[in-house]
Amino acid sequence: MEAKIISGTKLREDILDEISEKTLELKEKFNRPPGLVTILIGNNPASVSYVSLKIKTAERVGFKEVQENLNEDVSENELIALIKKYNEDETIDGILVQLPLPKHINEERVLNAIDPDKDVDGFHPVNVGRLIIGKKVIFAPCTPAGIIEMIKRSGIDTNGAEVVVVGRSNIVGKPIANMMLQKNEGANSTVTIVHTATRDLKSHCMRADILIVAAGVPGLVKPEWVKKGACVIDVGVNRVGEKISEKTGKKIPVLKGDVDFDEIKKIAGWITPVPGGVGPMTIAMLMKNTLKSMIARVEKSSV
Ligand code: NAD
Repeated sequence: MEAKIISGTKLREDILDEISEKTLELKEKFNRPPGLVTILIGNNPASVSYVSLKIKTAERVGFKEVQENLNEDVSENELIALIKKYNEDETIDGILVQLPLPKHINEERVLNAIDPDKDVDGFHPVNVGRLIIGKKVIFAPCTPAGIIEMIKRSGIDTNGAEVVVVGRSNIVGKPIANMMLQKNEGANSTVTIVHTATRDLKSHCMRADILIVAAGVPGLVKPEWVKKGACVIDVGVNRVGEKISEKTGKKIPVLKGDVDFDEIKKIAGWITPVPGGVGPMTIAMLMKNTLKSMIARVEKSSV
């Protein structure tokens, strides 16, 4: 039997519908929707397209959306002053600074300037610490949070499961490994992280009940590395060429994941496609974090 395909595109729509509904309730009760500010510096085409998708999604769920498009030559101090302005703004619950930043700006200083209680990307050291401690986690980074949501909503049993994470980046590998380890619903697993220095990648992957791959290497994971019935989450998004879009007639990239999808779907129990898997979940989780931020803020102010 072929693996069940976990569609991020479909799950994203369910999650966005839930968020829209909750937004209406919040507006009714507190007279304002959740507020998100997106700060874009310069006009890097990939960043412009990510930010416009975030703006479109925020509008789709009924949030207040503020756009700040800054020139490439903005100074670090000007950027930090803008962030501080939104830290103080009572109608803003989430501050998102689109990365990467121009070379003359120190990314760490900028991310650290965001109020941790408005850090909807979950990159501030305070939120990374909260994630590891496992208490009071409001802002889990969006890609790992999307992965947990996919696993939970697919009804996969994670209790005591062998989870193998390929990759140790700060935005995917490390946080998802920490989250799967917590004594929480959709987690509580036994976790191994493998990376470029791991001696025998294959033998680790073969043990996995849940294999999460975030290496950025097209087709790294081979069919013989996958246990029968395992859940395979492919985070990789690799541009392997270009094609002409049937819809627009324009050139678009051909994307491939980190696992050999066509062969592995014959072995796995569940698998995520690329595109249409983890990717769409990431923006949905950004909206969820913004919603959670407003709920936490209004609850705090009503105590
Ligand atoms: P990264 O380059 O920061 O980290 C990759 C990690 O994989 C490193 O820790 C490295 O040790 C490990 N690795 C690389 N090659 C390996 C190999 N041959 N064997 C074992 N380990 C290896 O990348 P990242 O930011 O974590 O992203 C990983 C992939 O996920 C990329 O393709 C990226 O585009 C994609 N991504 C997708 C989303 C999404 O929303 N779908 C979000 C973030 C990243």
